[in-house]
Amino acid sequence: MCRMNLINGWIILKMHEMSIAHAILTEAEKIALENNAQKVLWVRVKIGIMTGVVTEQLQSAFEIYKRQFEACAELELIIHEQPLVLVCKACGKRTHTTDYILQCEHCHTTEVDILDGDSMFIEQLELDLKEEIKSGQGTA
Ligand SMILES: [Zn+2]
Repeated sequence: MCRMNLINGWIILKMHEMSIAHAILTEAEKIALENNAQKVLWVRVKIGIMTGVVTEQLQSAFEIYKRQFEACAELELIIHEQPLVLVCKACGKRTHTTDYILQCEHCHTTEVDILDGDSMFIEQLELDLKEEIKSGQGTA
């Protein structure tokens, strides 16, 4: 019973990273097509630590999936890990932390709002645009 739970948990965690990798690649491929780009060179993804994404697993999932996307086959994934940024409701000061503890480091209250570190999105990517090799074709 206990073992079953652990196995299930592991699979869910792994699928989480795989579906995220697939979603990022789908989006990058779409952007490449929209911009008539040959390929996507790299993509930088901001991942807040509160999302619970295991970056090593995301990288592995990326390597598995990227060959399925024509424009993303050689894409490099750059992960920008965003620490947790809290703002205190009592003293108004900010706390930057890589722990998962929702507490003000100045006055130690737990009455805090999360400013950053709980979201995930594509920050930036670089496209390799198709060159007009035969420009002026038909007029020469
Ligand atoms: Zn405080």
